[in-house]
Amino acid sequence: MSQAEKSGVERSERGYFGEFGGSFVPPQLNAVLARLDEAFQHYKDDPEFNKEYDFYMKEYVGRENPLTFAERLTSTLGGAKIYLKREDLNHTGAHKINNVIGQILLAKKMGAHRIIAETGAGQHGVATATACAMLGMDCTIYMGAEDTRRQELNVFRMELLGAKVVAVHKGQGRLKDAVDEALGDLIENYESTFYLLGSAVGPHPFPTMVHHFQSIISNESKRQILEKEGRLPDVVVACCGGGSNAIGAFSAYIPEESVRLVGVEPAEAATLTKGTPGVIHGFKCLCLQDEEGNPLPTHSIAAGLDYPGIGPEHSHLKVSGRAEYYSVTKEEVLDAFQKLAQTEGIIPALESAHAVAYGLKAAPQMKQEEIMIINISGRGDKDVNEVKLLLSQN
Ligand SMILES: *Cc1c(COP(=O)(O)O)cnc(C)c1O
Repeated sequence: MSQAEKSGVERSERGYFGEFGGSFVPPQLNAVLARLDEAFQHYKDDPEFNKEYDFYMKEYVGRENPLTFAERLTSTLGGAKIYLKREDLNHTGAHKINNVIGQILLAKKMGAHRIIAETGAGQHGVATATACAMLGMDCTIYMGAEDTRRQELNVFRMELLGAKVVAVHKGQGRLKDAVDEALGDLIENYESTFYLLGSAVGPHPFPTMVHHFQSIISNESKRQILEKEGRLPDVVVACCGGGSNAIGAFSAYIPEESVRLVGVEPAEAATLTKGTPGVIHGFKCLCLQDEEGNPLPTHSIAAGLDYPGIGPEHSHLKVSGRAEYYSVTKEEVLDAFQKLAQTEGIIPALESAHAVAYGLKAAPQMKQEEIMIINISGRGDKDVNEVKLLLSQN
């Protein structure tokens, strides 16, 4: 029995992907999540709502972004044709904004005027603060006190964007403690407040909702590859932290059985390659846990991948065999980071460099007429200091 089941939290039947997902939350949150699910189910098919979402995707985020043929990388490797889906070109430099804007628009429809979110390294917090500024929403970001010290510049960015950053001193002052504080706030203020989750994780309906808003990535790439090549890709590759960019990059191809789907994790947080079923943060997934079901600490060089769990849908895609997941080492990631910069003039986020690292190994094993799409989830400007330091240590 998991921690959550032992502590007697309620379990809802909705939102399962095979045996994974669901909603394991304190009873006070059940009604809040049910109301959210109802609103999402209604608005996701509402033409007005979708028109508004598309408007901001185009005019603010800068979509659609290109599917770039990586000509020099392809010829250097001598195998499959490599295309890069350029989420790095979005406003704020990553895919997170797709989901953040979707959820804030939904919050407005639900009558909320205040957004709260938690952030670890600050990337989700910055994306949330950005979109709240643009859409005129009050914004509070919870962050572990330890993380506010390590990510001083992101704290300043969020404040510059008009957000209130609350440093959480309870517990170990890390992400988990920030999540607990944010949930406490939500329970108290649910009528005015919307809790914005940043990845394809958490209790139902969050994984389904994040899938929906991020599916714009593969809806675009499918249209683009059909235009450029007249056929579907053979493989789509994306990095996995909580799994939102990957589920967005896979979504349109899940029913296309000829397309292989590959998720890539850090060897130091290899949830899908090494994890076991368990309940963390309100949902069931494959996760890295100790014998009592507590999440194990992870330490990836890519802050966005440093999470001991993974979205429930990926857990199911792995167990059912529809998608494959591999891990890559820190050395392979640093090599891929430099190689993409030097062959294509694109400095990827360290997270995205995990997907590139898999591509560097797999593409040469493939035929020249085969096609690989790599999702470049974000740009690497934020990581150059860290990479400089890591390379100087070698
Ligand atoms: C946050 C982040 C990730 C990891 O999150 P997912 O939900 O797994 O996509 C990956 N890449 C970038 C650039 C990020 O900012």
